[in-house]
Amino acid sequence: MKILIQNGHVVDPLTGVDEVCDVLVRDTDIEKVEKNLQAEADRVIDASGCYVMPGFIDLHVHLRDPGLTQKETLSTGGMAAARGGVTTVCAMPNTKPVIDTKEKVEEVHRRAKEESLVHVIQLGSMTMGECGEELSDIEGMAQAGCYALSEDGKSVMNAFLFRKAMRKAKENDLLIFSHCEDISMVEGGVMNAGKRAEELGVKGITNSVEDVIVARDILIAKELDATLHLCHCSTADSVRMIKDAKEAGLKVTGEVCPHHFILTDEDIPENNGIWKMNPPLRSKADVEALRQGLKDGVMDVISTDHAPHMMSEKDKPMEQAAFGIVGLETSACLTYTELVEKGVLTVMQMAEKMSYNPAKILGLKDRGSVSAGKKADIVVFDPRREYQIDVDTFASKGKNTPFDGWEVKGEVCCTLADGKIVYEK
Ligand SMILES: [Zn+2]
Repeated sequence: MKILIQNGHVVDPLTGVDEVCDVLVRDTDIEKVEKNLQAEADRVIDASGCYVMPGFIDLHVHLRDPGLTQKETLSTGGMAAARGGVTTVCAMPNTKPVIDTKEKVEEVHRRAKEESLVHVIQLGSMTMGECGEELSDIEGMAQAGCYALSEDGKSVMNAFLFRKAMRKAKENDLLIFSHCEDISMVEGGVMNAGKRAEELGVKGITNSVEDVIVARDILIAKELDATLHLCHCSTADSVRMIKDAKEAGLKVTGEVCPHHFILTDEDIPENNGIWKMNPPLRSKADVEALRQGLKDGVMDVISTDHAPHMMSEKDKPMEQAAFGIVGLETSACLTYTELVEKGVLTVMQMAEKMSYNPAKILGLKDRGSVSAGKKADIVVFDPRREYQIDVDTFASKGKNTPFDGWEVKGEVCCTLADGKIVYEK
């Protein structure tokens, strides 16, 4: 099977190609990227006026499968990813049961091959059941190809145990993805601590809830010379600490989610759970720092923290609602509209943060690039399309996003994973 993607503007961080080219896909791989490519193909995709980028790699997704399939499944999550131009997702292990053994990782990988349109990398928890008491089956999960450990949803609060997990992860060539939150300091907070929380009469979550664990985890990574990736950073001090860590030569990377680089707590109009996420929407100064961090290269990755919930768990006062926002189907258009159109990032940087850097962090040498010899994971993105985000069109079971109804620019029109068209508008 041969597919020719014609006349698109190829944006490839690996080779630096940033011009109109044709891309020839043969079976699962990219065979050629050239100007005016003359080739026979079974299918020709006209990408005139569109960007052709490496398929996005989302390091932070909750697929809710197994056990919470009323919220999402490998199948619906995979469809949502394909619609968003995402061709590889890292699935967080806080499912039911928690993914903490070799067998559980293998089971999700086996099922994902049959049920998901896109590549699924199942991450493993750091402790059994994410209970923070004993280490998970780290060695076994490494053998099953889990790439990284994460206690996402929480932090391993016992620093001794965290260090032990990180040491073992390093021995097994695994990364640590840290959700940074000192639970003892949350005190029932449901949104960012500050004026807006006071106005709405709800308890706040201070920046230091995140910052103290960011500092701790960086210091432990330094001690062990281990690799640390900091999830969903939301504060100016997180950005500053990652900058310092990088300048000191530590192997630390950071991710930012669209909701954190777009919205502030001042945007929250009422006490409704649709606005509740963890970490919370922060202040204007934090949002500015995150954008600057993305621009300067301090922040490496744009991920979504795609966290689907049923609306019955979200459409109520924040005190009673679940934490989380969906993101797979809106990250590309929000990043393009808010960062590229506004001059914060170039399209090349968008491709870096959404594909090339995540591939590099995971060590996926065959992905993150539209160049000959790589896997044909490709997104065709039309920057001209203007429309409203409409949750009713989502493939995800989760409709929980405050971006419903937002005017955006830029739309995924075609996604290829492993050389197969998995989404086409
Ligand atoms: Zn998290």
